[in-house]
Amino acid sequence: MRLVFATKINNVSIDINKVRADFPILSQKIYGKDLIYLDSGATAQKPQCVIDAETEMYTHWNSNIHRGVHFLSNQSTDRYEKSRTIIKDFLNAKSEKEVIFTSGTTASINLVAHSLGDFCIEKGDEIIVTEMEHHSNIVPWQLLCQRKGAVLKVIPVTDCGELNIDAFKSIISERTKIVSVAHVSNTLGTINPINEIAQIVHNYNAYFVVDGAQGVQHGKVDVQAMDCDFYAFSGHKLYAPTGIGVLYGKEEILEQMPPYMGGGDMIKEVSFNGTTFAELPLKFEAGTSNYVGAYALGEAINYVNSVGVDNIEEYEQDLLKYATNKLSTIDGLKIYGTAKNKVCTISFLLDGIHHYDTGMILDKLGIAVRTGHHCTQPLTERFNIDGIVRASFTFYNTKAEVDALYDGLLKVKQMFS
Ligand code: PMP
Repeated sequence: MRLVFATKINNVSIDINKVRADFPILSQKIYGKDLIYLDSGATAQKPQCVIDAETEMYTHWNSNIHRGVHFLSNQSTDRYEKSRTIIKDFLNAKSEKEVIFTSGTTASINLVAHSLGDFCIEKGDEIIVTEMEHHSNIVPWQLLCQRKGAVLKVIPVTDCGELNIDAFKSIISERTKIVSVAHVSNTLGTINPINEIAQIVHNYNAYFVVDGAQGVQHGKVDVQAMDCDFYAFSGHKLYAPTGIGVLYGKEEILEQMPPYMGGGDMIKEVSFNGTTFAELPLKFEAGTSNYVGAYALGEAINYVNSVGVDNIEEYEQDLLKYATNKLSTIDGLKIYGTAKNKVCTISFLLDGIHHYDTGMILDKLGIAVRTGHHCTQPLTERFNIDGIVRASFTFYNTKAEVDALYDGLLKVKQMFS
C-alpha cells in the first residue's frame, strides 16, 4: 500500500488521519475512552497491511520454506527471501548474506555473544557495554564473561542521559574485544553517537555491536555509514509481528564465526564423521524460521518506506519538542533524559507520586504508558530511582494526545494533593 502525502502542513509531511486509519487498534475505546497509546517503545501497533500479510500467508502460501519442491513451498520461500532483500535495502547492508532472521533483538545479541564470543574472547579480555543498556544487552555479555573469564566494563552516563565519551576513551584498551551499545536508549530516548563510537572501537581492532531495538523505527539506519559490525533489532517495535527480528553482521566477520544453534537448514551435509555447514545467512538460521513473521516484517518495512523514514523522523521530532515543552510546564514533573539528540520518548516522575500510581490512573483515562525499570535497572539505580513513567510516541501519535497526557497528569496530581 502506498500513501499519498498531503502537502506539508507546519512543515511536516505526514497525513496523520490517513496514518491513524491504517492502524485499526488505535480507533478502539478503552474504559469508554479513546485509546491513547503511548507505549510503542515496548511494542508498536500494526498497520492493516501487516495484519493482512500474516493472514495472506496462512490463507494462501503456508508451507515450510527451503528444500521444498512443491508450489507452496516455493511461494513461501520466495516471500521469505524477498523480505530479506527488503531488509538489506532498508539497512543499506551490502548483501543478503548479512541479514540473519532471528526471533528478535534478544536472540540476535545472544547469537553474537555466543558465536563471536567463542570466536574471539579469551580469559582476561574485556567487553564494554554502557550504563544505559537494556538487560538484553547486559546479561548475554555477563554470561559470556562468566564462561570465558573475561571482564565486563561499563561506559557511564551523564546527568542529562548522554554517554560519557571521554570516560569511554579512558576505559577502552588493547584487551577490549567487543563493545556493545544501544543505538537509542529505551528509557531515556538518547540517540548515541554511533559513528564516533565506531571509530574509537575500530582503532582498538575491537568488534562493535549496536542494539538497534529502539533505533531502527525512528530514523534512517545505514549500517555501512555507521560502520557497526553488528546491528540487532526486533520486528515488533517496527510495526511487524512479534517473534521475528534481525541480526545484521558484516559478511567477513560472520564467515569467521562458528554456528550458534545446530539443526535443520543450517547444514550442508551431516554425518557421524562430521558435519559441514550451510553458507551465510542460513548457517545462523537453524530450525524452521518464522517465515510468516519474516514476510510480514518485509511488509512492515514497505509500509514505513511508503510513509517515508525522513517524514517519520521529522514528524516525531516536532512531536518531541511539543511534548517536552508542554510537560515541562507541570509543576513537580521531572524529565529524565534531556540529551541533545533524542527520539520521541519522554520518561518522567511526578514529585512524591509513585510511578506505578501515575501509570494506573492514566490507564483509567485511556492512556497507556509504561512504568517500572524498563529492563534498565543499572540505569534507574544510576539516577537513584526505582522506576519511572515512560511515554513513548511514534508517528501515529498526535499533539492532541500529548494534551490529553498533560491533562491526565494534572488529574493525577490533583488526586494526590
Ligand atoms: N534492547 C532495547 C534497547 C530494547 O528496548 C528492547 C525491548 N524493550 C530490547 C533490547 C529487547 O527486545 P526484544 O524483547 O524484542 O528482544
